[in-house]
Amino acid sequence: MTAPGTRDEDFGARLSFDRGVRGRRAVDVPAWSGDETPLPDSWLLRDSVRLPEMSQGELVRYYTALSARNYGIDSGTYPLGSCTMKFNPKVNDLIAFLPGFADAHPLAAEEGAQGTLRTLWELRAGLAEITGLPAVSLAPAAGAQGEFAGVLMIKAALEDRGELEQRRRILVPDSAHGTNPATAAMAGFAVTHIPTADDGSLDRGTIERELDETVAGVMVTVPNTLGLWERGIEEVADLIHEAGAYLYADGANLNAIMGRVRYGDLGFDVAHLNLHKSFSTPHGGGGPGAGPVCCNEELAPYLPKPILEENDDGVVRLAVPERSIGRLQQFHGNAGVLLRAYAYMRALGLDGLRAVSGQAVLNANYLRVLLDGHYDLPYDRPVLHEVVFSGSRQRRQHGVRTYDIAKRLIDHGFHPPTVYFPLIVDEALMMEPTETEPPEAIEALADALIAIAAEAERDPDALHEAPVAAPIGRLDETTAARRPFLRWQDPGAVKR
Ligand SMILES: *Cc1c(COP(=O)(O)O)cnc(C)c1O
Repeated sequence: MTAPGTRDEDFGARLSFDRGVRGRRAVDVPAWSGDETPLPDSWLLRDSVRLPEMSQGELVRYYTALSARNYGIDSGTYPLGSCTMKFNPKVNDLIAFLPGFADAHPLAAEEGAQGTLRTLWELRAGLAEITGLPAVSLAPAAGAQGEFAGVLMIKAALEDRGELEQRRRILVPDSAHGTNPATAAMAGFAVTHIPTADDGSLDRGTIERELDETVAGVMVTVPNTLGLWERGIEEVADLIHEAGAYLYADGANLNAIMGRVRYGDLGFDVAHLNLHKSFSTPHGGGGPGAGPVCCNEELAPYLPKPILEENDDGVVRLAVPERSIGRLQQFHGNAGVLLRAYAYMRALGLDGLRAVSGQAVLNANYLRVLLDGHYDLPYDRPVLHEVVFSGSRQRRQHGVRTYDIAKRLIDHGFHPPTVYFPLIVDEALMMEPTETEPPEAIEALADALIAIAAEAERDPDALHEAPVAAPIGRLDETTAARRPFLRWQDPGAVKR
């Protein structure tokens, strides 16, 4: 794909270093007419830094062309399941960039930082309302860190109850996000997997059998990674509490249910949210994020610090919960992400958030219906925010793998979906169109996938070569992982 106006010149193949011409400048700086620099010449790095020298026009074209090789939500549909790659209104960025927020010093006196602190205070009140869990810490910097906080809180509460020795297990459905068992293990618990029943909800019989005085908690992804509602979760919550264990909600995919169902009302004790997903922060490549942890009164004393409190004098202050699990990261959390979430929440209001989840669910079901019959659908029932198809028919009949299908989608101009996850679906294709895609975009994505299914029948070998229209073709991923090139190398010189 060549960016408009670049003709055949491959801007990725030659770096700025190779393009520079000695003496060219992007900015003309007037000659210095004052005294000579007092620094001795030997301190200056004149010869050893080989900086590229380019004109401003060349520089702008170079970076514009490079940026056009990236695929982002601003370039097209991005159906990466579970990641909620939705369009984020730019006004939220502008609000987070306001100098009063962006230039605030994290160590400023609380009285002098009331604008930021009160905004965060109102955000936490909103999140408490949305989750039905009254106590909130905004500190965690990602979903996985929010989970870790939640499980450490459960651990600390059990220790105070004198039951930590005996309660060493956490039950995790096999349809949970992978971070759930990882978190439980990192917090020092043994993980017991609960199988998924035929309808895609967790298997009640196994839960009932496993629940005993050795169980510390149960972590449930709601909705689960099949994009399905966890049927009967309220009764399961009762069973868990009768057994003396805690119930954790992975709320990273709140997009599906926000404004409609609240974790607290369902019986969850603690939950984390992914503000960078559901609440509008551009994310990808590992950040930035915010994974607030919300809990009931019983677990509130264990929240990570700092939390926010409004004092009698009307000043919002940082506070440390009585039995806090401690600090997870510096200062207040990822303020830029938190501010965007606040702006988004206030702009939409409760009705708007409810409309978001309604549209997200409608869009996922539209995709489900459009693709019905072209790919296998192992859990065939109405979905919430995402739908998980399987490429097993294409594999079985034509030797085409989900991996090939995903790579071919790049040639059709789409970012691939999440693949091979959840693990319980063979050759999984997990797609989340999100509420911000218009129907035409969902139809275009479905058309591309249907065309690929037809190609799998007609010419399966061609699919093994995909992508063919992208700047970089298919990589040997094992080699890329084991022997990565960490420095630029001339593609002509690299043995493929
Ligand atoms: C994205 C996601 C996570 C992890 O969140 P990070 O911010 O990437 O750490 C956890 N659980 C679910 C269900 C997710 O979708």
